Amino acid sequence: MTKNTSSNYVFNRQPLLHTPTTELPFGAIKPQGWLRDQMRIQADGISGHLDEISDRVGSRSSWLGCDRGDSQSGPYYLDGLFPLAHLLDDEALIKKAAKWIDWALKSATPDGAFGPLHDDDYWPRMIMLKVLMQYHEQSADGKVIQLMSRYFAFLGPQLKKTPLSSWGKARGGDFLYCINWLYNRTGDASLLELSRVVYEQTDDWTGIFADLPFTRSTSFYYNWERVLAQYPQGLSPAFYNDLFSGAHVMRFHITHIVNVVMGLKTPGIHYLQTHDPRHKAAVMSGIESLTRHHGVVNGMFGGDEHLSGNDPTQGHELCSVVEYMFSLQTLLDIYTEDTLLPDLLEKVAYNALPAQNSKDYWRHQYLQQPNQVLVSKAKRNWYNNNDESNLFGFEPNCFCCTSNLHQGWPKFLKNLWRASDDRGLTAMVYAPSRVTAKVADGVDVTIEQETAYPFDDKIVLTISCGKPVAFPLRLRIPAWCKQATVDINGKQQGQSAGNRYHAIDRLWQSGDVVTLTLPMQIRISKWGNNAVGIERGPLVYALKIGEEWRKLKGTDPYADWEVHPTTPWNYALELDLKHPDRSFTVERKPVARQPYDAACPPLILRAKGKRIPQWQLQDHAAGPVPQSPVACDATLEDIELIPYGAAKLRISHFPYFDSTRQ
Ligand SMILES: [Zn+2]
Repeated sequence: MTKNTSSNYVFNRQPLLHTPTTELPFGAIKPQGWLRDQMRIQADGISGHLDEISDRVGSRSSWLGCDRGDSQSGPYYLDGLFPLAHLLDDEALIKKAAKWIDWALKSATPDGAFGPLHDDDYWPRMIMLKVLMQYHEQSADGKVIQLMSRYFAFLGPQLKKTPLSSWGKARGGDFLYCINWLYNRTGDASLLELSRVVYEQTDDWTGIFADLPFTRSTSFYYNWERVLAQYPQGLSPAFYNDLFSGAHVMRFHITHIVNVVMGLKTPGIHYLQTHDPRHKAAVMSGIESLTRHHGVVNGMFGGDEHLSGNDPTQGHELCSVVEYMFSLQTLLDIYTEDTLLPDLLEKVAYNALPAQNSKDYWRHQYLQQPNQVLVSKAKRNWYNNNDESNLFGFEPNCFCCTSNLHQGWPKFLKNLWRASDDRGLTAMVYAPSRVTAKVADGVDVTIEQETAYPFDDKIVLTISCGKPVAFPLRLRIPAWCKQATVDINGKQQGQSAGNRYHAIDRLWQSGDVVTLTLPMQIRISKWGNNAVGIERGPLVYALKIGEEWRKLKGTDPYADWEVHPTTPWNYALELDLKHPDRSFTVERKPVARQPYDAACPPLILRAKGKRIPQWQLQDHAAGPVPQSPVACDATLEDIELIPYGAAKLRISHFPYFDSTRQ
């Protein structure tokens, strides 16, 4: 692609590396269909009401003026509430979000600082800057540019006196993201030097991901019981100070799952400034190493709450799900040679994210397990999380996810489309939506995307424009798709293999309809103990297990609940490994308002399996997956697999036996 400096949108300004695509401004893409329903359910659940329940995002928030209040929860909440409110055009929620924006803007002091006076921690400010950037894209309020310019001018000298430390040192990549955003709008060269300083003070994620030092569970390197035993006072200020500051031998921050997935963006963003391919390669090497040593079928990594290997009964934190999604989003424009990152983004969004929230979005789990056969208050083999971590509740284990989960869907939506540097549009990830954007000659184009994807393989794009206009439209063909077909106005225009972007450059007329079909075949992925994952399109499938929900404590609708199994779960799948399609019958149902509901899943894979009697509960979780292929003479039974996100109890790393060898 050639560089086009007269683009309609903000691309990287030199010397930042030019990328072939860039984000559309906030609000250009609106949700439709099932995704709009999903976000509406979220808004009617905890996201629209958290401030009425938790004083951390109310009277005790230091971002609303409380002295010595909570500094992190407010910005976390706003980072999801603000986009959710505006994307749904929900006036009541827009009003809720506005008071925080007002407070943040008014908090700016003459020296350039902003935020709560009593707490000078950089980390919560990084989050609030990300909120203000969205607000600026939505409102064009110049006060944001002014505040950010003054704050970053303040930050340079401040970092010399008080360098990044603790969480801020691990998460400096989020500062880099904000600094680049401002530089691309103002061209202030001092921001480039600030970016260099921030990178230097941030944990060395390039070095870490180039050669991952933690290829086993964190417990192999640091015994948590022994770490705790060094502090007779327990979880005391001295304990936190040592661990968070890096004074303790345990490398706390760089094994911490949320920091690790947040850290993935750091080398990629720094690469834009340095053009050094070492940084670019580190991101891919990091994803590859994390997947090999800690990866699970839903696209995530074991981390409860430090890297915990690839056993499917280890957990991963909800913050790591939404933050991994955000990291992938910040990298989409940099890694356009193939479709790995958008494929991963869809996988995490369409599987891990809904799985960890209750279907009404009032409760969430701190930790989800890929093989999750019992949700209860009990001691499990977590590295250092408590016995309530896998409950569906208000704030199991810790309050961080309660305020951070809201960003998942709204930010995902912003990444459906990208502007390309030849003034075209690129469909990056798919979901029902409507995008309005300027293309060649500054003509406004609206593209309605009608689809039930990921629950269906057909995507219909209807183009509206004031006058005929020529521009390139690129469609991502995911790597899992062997051969996509593209029709224009009912006539086949082309076919495309997967793992690439299919380009259509033509004179578009209002009313043109592009139909993209992405045939979904059953795929088998291999995991630890030779277990298999069952995937079809962007969805992962899991054994449907009968669920009995038992309220444990708390106030409805956000009380803490256990989920107990009412049907067996210890099945091995009958598989024809060479022709996996032959082992399953796909049954389609109407897509309900909440498709991630085990009672009405839009897709069911019917299969056969045999129970493995020796595979039983161990430490309140499914025992280790029996080594496959398993030998078993039990009776063959009919079983159902449903989308992972709908199955709150599930097996998704399966043992199997070969149907062709029985
Ligand atoms: Zn969390």
